[in-house]
Amino acid sequence: MPKWSKEIAIGFFPVMFVFLAFIGVDVLPILIAAIIVGGLLFFAKNKGGIAVGSGRTPKRKKTAPSKLTFEEIGGQDNAKQELREALDFLIRHEEIKKFGIRPLKGILLTGPPGTGKTLMAKAAAHYTNSVFVGASGSEFVEMYVGVGAGRIRNLFKDARARAAKENKQSAIIFIDEIDVIGGKREGGQQREYDQTLNQLLTEMDGIFTTDTPRILVIAATNRKEMLDSALLRPGRFDRHIQVDLPDKKGRTHILRLHAANKPLSEDVDLEKIAEEAYGFSGAQLESVMNEAAIYTMRENEGRIQQRHLSMAIDKVMMGERSDRESNFEEKKRVAIHELGHAIIAELVRPGSVKQVALSPRGKALGYVRHNPQQEQYLYTKSFLEEQIMITLGGAAAEEIYYGGRSTGSSNDFEQSLHIVETMMKSGLTSLGIINMNMVTTEELMRENNLILEDLMNRTKHLLEQNHAIFDNSLDILMREEILSGEQFRCQFRENALLPA
Ligand code: ATP
Repeated sequence: MPKWSKEIAIGFFPVMFVFLAFIGVDVLPILIAAIIVGGLLFFAKNKGGIAVGSGRTPKRKKTAPSKLTFEEIGGQDNAKQELREALDFLIRHEEIKKFGIRPLKGILLTGPPGTGKTLMAKAAAHYTNSVFVGASGSEFVEMYVGVGAGRIRNLFKDARARAAKENKQSAIIFIDEIDVIGGKREGGQQREYDQTLNQLLTEMDGIFTTDTPRILVIAATNRKEMLDSALLRPGRFDRHIQVDLPDKKGRTHILRLHAANKPLSEDVDLEKIAEEAYGFSGAQLESVMNEAAIYTMRENEGRIQQRHLSMAIDKVMMGERSDRESNFEEKKRVAIHELGHAIIAELVRPGSVKQVALSPRGKALGYVRHNPQQEQYLYTKSFLEEQIMITLGGAAAEEIYYGGRSTGSSNDFEQSLHIVETMMKSGLTSLGIINMNMVTTEELMRENNLILEDLMNRTKHLLEQNHAIFDNSLDILMREEILSGEQFRCQFRENALLPA
C-alpha cells in the first residue's frame, strides 16, 4: 500500500461523514459499525488473534551485518578451526557442486552456557559474507497449534529476503536453545512442538546446492542428549562442534580481549586472574572485567588494579556482598560449617585454602575460597571421594558441634550427589560398569547411601582428630570474620608441634 494512502483515508472519511450528514443521511449506525470493524482489525493486528493463527513471527530486530570475526573470540581454538573448515563448504560451493557433494545444511554447537556459541555463529556469518538471522527456540513456543511452524517458515523466508536485499549469496540462520523445539518426540502429547520441529526439518530438507541464497542453519544447545534423532541424522545437523569451557590459556585470551577497551594498571597479571577464574565461562570472564572496571570507578581510581579483578572474581563466583545481619548463634553455625569444609580441604589437599570468610555474599552466609587448581580433565576415584568429603565437611562439622544439621547444607548435598552419579557412570563404584538404565532406583539408592555414609564417617573422624585446630580457628574466625590461608595453615603447624 502506498505510504500516503493512510493520510488520504484519514482525510476522506471524516469529510464523507460530514457530507452524508449534511444531505440528511443517518450516519450514526455507519459510524458505530466502522468503529467496531476498526477496533477488531486493530486488535487482530496487535494482539495475535487472526495474526497469531497465521504464524506471525515476533518482530525480529534488524541486526546490522555481522562484523564480529573469529579473532574476537577468545580461546576455543579447536572449535573455531572445526567451524572454519565446515564453513568452507559454503564458500567453496562451486567445487562442492562439481563433486556432487550434498550441501552442509546444519551445524550444531554444543556446550555450557556463555561459552561463545552465539559469537561463533555471528563470526561464521562474517567469515562467509552471509546475512545473519538469529532466533531462540523459545520464540517458537506458543500454545496455538501451527504458530511455531509458521514462525519457522517466516524465519527462512526472512533470511532469504534479507540476503536478496543485501545482495548476499548466503544466509546463516542461528537458532539458540534448539532443545526447546527439537526435544525428543514421544508422540501424542506435544503436537505443537512436533509441528514446529517438523517444519524445521522440512525447511532444511528443502535446502539445495543450486539455491541462491545458500542457507546454513547453525543451532546451539547445552543439552545435546535431549535432541530428537531426526534432527541429528545426516543431511540435517550432522556437524557437531563442542564449545567447551575455556582452559587457562583460553581464559587469559578472553580476559585480554575484554580488557582491550579498559585502562589496566601496569602491574595487572591477567594470567594470574585466569588461574583464579578456574571453571569460568567466557560470559563470566567478561563480567569479571566489567565488575573490576565498576569497582575502579567507584573508588575513583584511574586504572584497574589486580585487587579490583580479584574482588570481581569473588563477586562473579559468589554474588555481591550483602549487608544481611545474622545473630550470634547463626554466625557461629556458619563459622563451624565453613571451617568443616576448610579443614577437610586443607587435610586432603594441603595448601589449597585461600581464605575462610564469614561475610555474607549472594545467598551464602559464609564461604571458603580455594587457591587456583591445576587444570584437570581426568579424575581418579580417590580424588572424587576427597571432593565429596570436602563438600560434606560443613554438615559433618555441624553434626559434631550441634548434634544435627541445618538447611545450610542443601547445596553441598547436591554437589555430593552429582559426584556420586559421575562415579557410578564411570564404573568407579561397587556396582561395577553399568548403564544407569540397567539398575533399579533401589539399587542406585543403596549404593549412593553406602558411599555417602562411608565418606561422611571418614569426614567426621578427620574433623574429630583435628578438633584443636578447629577450635582455635573458630575463635579467630568469630573474632575477625576472616581467616586467611596463611593464618589457617599456621594452626596446622602449631598443632603438629603439640605433644600427641
Ligand atoms: P548461551 O548458551 O547462554 O546462549 P552462548 O554460548 O551463546 O551462551 P554467548 O552469547 O556467545 O554465549 O556469549 C555471551 C557473552 O560472553 C558474549 O557476548 C561475550 O561478551 C562473552 N564471551 C563468551 N565466550 C567468549 C569468548 N570465547 N571470547 C570472548 N568473549 C566471550
